[in-house]
Amino acid sequence: MRTIDRDIRRYLEIERLLNAFFATFDYCLPRCITPEIQNSGHKPTAACCTKKYYALYDLDHPAFELLRRERELLFGKPEQYHWNDPVSPCPYHNPAKGCVLATHKSPVCLSFLCRSAIDVLRNTFGIYSYDYLGVHYALEWILTGEFSEHQYNEFRNSILDMTLKVERSAVSS
Ligand code: SF4
Repeated sequence: MRTIDRDIRRYLEIERLLNAFFATFDYCLPRCITPEIQNSGHKPTAACCTKKYYALYDLDHPAFELLRRERELLFGKPEQYHWNDPVSPCPYHNPAKGCVLATHKSPVCLSFLCRSAIDVLRNTFGIYSYDYLGVHYALEWILTGEFSEHQYNEFRNSILDMTLKVERSAVSS
């Protein structure tokens, strides 16, 4: 397998694990988006998608280019989306359902957790290892091939550990 293909597959594997972690954590919809919609008289919200983040911080690197190409094959180009009453400048943001990108998000979109969510991770679950910028850079390094096998496995295991910790807390509460 060419290195760039390996790096993309690693990235998508981490994306799958992070999505499982976020699903277990279950913070954004019930604790941020739903209250905001209720408090605004049922208006849709952009939540944290306040810029065109899908490309904003992309590096000039072939792996980012391949990620974008695969994303557009699966979900279409951003300019293909036209929403009635959009609430976000990002075309991938469906006002009724949020981000249309089930996979192949950019590192910044995939890694972002707001301060409130990080506080809940710390105070409710005792997880101090989710560092948004650290995860962002780790994702970039996976894509650009700068993460060693050892670093990749450590990062992968840290996501699995956080997920397990949240799952165990939910079962015991
Ligand atoms: S691509 Fe998705 S996650 Fe990123 S800013 Fe747009 S809607 Fe939000």
